[in-house]
Amino acid sequence: MKGQEVYEDIPEDACLALESIVGLEYVSTDPVICAAYVGRGFDREIVHFSGVSRAPAAVVLPETTDEVARIVKTCNRYKIPFIPMSTYGMAFGGPNFRDDFLFIDLKRMNKMWLDEKNMYVVLESAVNFAQMHGETLKRGLIGCLPGGGGGVSVLANSLVNGMGLFNYRITYASQRRWNGIEWVSPEGEIYRMGSLVEDEDSWYWQDGLGPNVSGLMHGITGWGGAMGIVTKMSTKLYPIASENLEPEGISYDSCVKLPEDRMKWINVAFSSEEDVEKTLGEMAKAGIGFVVNRVPGLWRDIAKSRGNLAYRNMFWKSWGKRTREEVSGRRVLRVLLVGRASKAQLEYEERVFMDIVGKYGGRVLEARQVDEASFFAVNSLDMWQPTGMFGDCDVGMESLRCVRAMGEGWRTKETEQEYLDDFLDPKGDTPWYMSYNMGRLYYSELHAWPDAAQMDPGDVAYKEGLPDRFMRWRVSEAGKIVTETGNQSFFQSIVTPTRLFSPAFQNYDLWLDRFKKEFDPNDVSAPGQPYIYDKMVEEIFPQAVTDELKETVTKVAAGPWNGNPES
Ligand SMILES: Cc1cc2nc3c(=O)[nH]c(=O)nc-3n(C[C@H](O)[C@H](O)[C@H](O)COP(=O)(O)OP(=O)(O)OC[C@H]3O[C@@H](n4cnc5c(N)ncnc54)[C@H](O)[C@@H]3O)c2cc1C
Repeated sequence: MKGQEVYEDIPEDACLALESIVGLEYVSTDPVICAAYVGRGFDREIVHFSGVSRAPAAVVLPETTDEVARIVKTCNRYKIPFIPMSTYGMAFGGPNFRDDFLFIDLKRMNKMWLDEKNMYVVLESAVNFAQMHGETLKRGLIGCLPGGGGGVSVLANSLVNGMGLFNYRITYASQRRWNGIEWVSPEGEIYRMGSLVEDEDSWYWQDGLGPNVSGLMHGITGWGGAMGIVTKMSTKLYPIASENLEPEGISYDSCVKLPEDRMKWINVAFSSEEDVEKTLGEMAKAGIGFVVNRVPGLWRDIAKSRGNLAYRNMFWKSWGKRTREEVSGRRVLRVLLVGRASKAQLEYEERVFMDIVGKYGGRVLEARQVDEASFFAVNSLDMWQPTGMFGDCDVGMESLRCVRAMGEGWRTKETEQEYLDDFLDPKGDTPWYMSYNMGRLYYSELHAWPDAAQMDPGDVAYKEGLPDRFMRWRVSEAGKIVTETGNQSFFQSIVTPTRLFSPAFQNYDLWLDRFKKEFDPNDVSAPGQPYIYDKMVEEIFPQAVTDELKETVTKVAAGPWNGNPES
């Protein structure tokens, strides 16, 4: 065993069994080593500062599926709760509310097999998007990189959300992109799904003999580790121009240069949202575009800033100068065109796009032909820079009508004094939204960015009551708007409570409970998930749930569904 041996929460016998599986080097109960696993990553400012996340009792690092299965069986034998983790980008996915967890760190499971001809890749947990794209882009193939960035596990992201900028062309649903799956059930049995029923090397198809149960791995937002461990996954790749994306600069000022005969960014400013929407509609009809992103004004200042520690001041220096009139009167659409088949395709798409832009009075802005965000890194870290915390509140995915109503509701709320006192002022711009699946679907996020230092009770800058107010904005104000405008939220269990909203979403939790009881009779696979957010709100932020939200959920649950006045 590595480091100090402490058997307070996990019996010595069980630790010896774990040692015999992975070897002395790869298991530890040392509190110093375990402390490194206290919740970090996204939402640390809530989960960590409020004392929800804890250090695990022990950490184990398996290397193979067989080792994972034996560890899980050991956990069942000794009734030890366990949590699997791939890249640990989500603080709320870690040990929460209890100290007796075994943390299964999957970072040694880092292999990848690429099938270029059949356009898929088989991955273990620790392979991240930057690594995957490093290999696939050279061959003219891409996956779907999420906002979480190049450092995020492809496999974990596919289990959690799986959305990103490329969803205009590539389906947003990671469940539709994956093929075969190798899974260690909560009881430690190894299952192989999809075309893997043929043999262990057949990773080409999601379906196979018998029912397709792979959807069980994801649901709406994933299980938070509560449904065993996926040890390998095959996911589809998609064609993109085959030229290399050439790296330039050094971190924190780096990018890739686009091959200009095959790819082109075009930024266009419109004077009304209506003109943007009409442009989006016509683009979809014409079938052009690769990334179609309606970017809020402040993103430009985030993207323009450079450096590390000086970064925040640079953002405020430029964003601080912008007036509400300037920002709210300018709607920026950022589009990436790609000639996947040829240079002629790019030229054709550009001509069609320019015709549409001209029709709706768009003004083309300068755009550097480089990329810092879409293929490898994504602005995920940048999202922390303006205030030190990425204040994602809730999301919606639906028709443009629903997404528009959701954005307008939030824009009105953003002008309230309480919002302006506590959060970054977006100065009247529409919340971020994107066109998905060639305009058949739209996606939007509602944000409230508090200052991280003001959220931290241990910091001199701490602002009394701010965490409570932030949580009310996130859970109730945003949740109410998303729900009553007919959008499908899928942040439940990730940043909002599952059970609270469940009646408005077909009592989703009843199904979760049924599956959980069936597959995890000993309740050892991340017990408490995917309801940690429910527990956190009930016990630490009960005032985050307003009566108005409760009324909205009751009303939507009773029907007719608010998004569909005809039903
Ligand atoms: C700024 C920001 C923006 C983001 N934007 C997007 C976005 O646009 N689109 C999007 O899809 N996502 C987005 N995310 C989410 C991000 O992509 C997730 O963090 C990612 O999906 C999961 O990777 P992770 O490192 O967080 O995984 P981990 O923290 O390692 O795991 C996440 C959860 O999955 C479980 N898990 C991990 N590995 C396994 C396994 N092998 N088997 C079973 N369960 C497992 C864990 O127990 C945990 O509960 C964003 C995150 C941030 C911080």
